[in-house]
Amino acid sequence: MPEYKTYEQKKRFYRSKEWCGKDGVRLEALKRDNYECVQCKKEGKVTVDSIKTPGERKEVKLNVDHIYPIEHYPKLALTLDNLQTLCVYHHNVKEGRIFEKKKNKWAGDEWW
Ligand SMILES: [Zn+2]
Repeated sequence: MPEYKTYEQKKRFYRSKEWCGKDGVRLEALKRDNYECVQCKKEGKVTVDSIKTPGERKEVKLNVDHIYPIEHYPKLALTLDNLQTLCVYHHNVKEGRIFEKKKNKWAGDEWW
């Protein structure tokens, strides 16, 4: 069973073809979620990557997130049901990079 605890281990995983190759689960998750942030969708908004605009600089807005982090659930690293497409903003919210100081305020929130 592989482990994804260190930065190096994670980096290796996120570069693997099982993850980001053309038949990787990352792409499968994006396709399943219609290349939209699932959280924005719940809020009635559509957030998609801007890859379709030719000539413009590609701006990555979507991440494929592990609902149960691979660090603690390595078995679920390549399980499609454990993946969700999130925009950078919602990914940061989920990872606690935003609203850190207001954590208690959000603790009773039903989102997660
Ligand atoms: Zn979003």
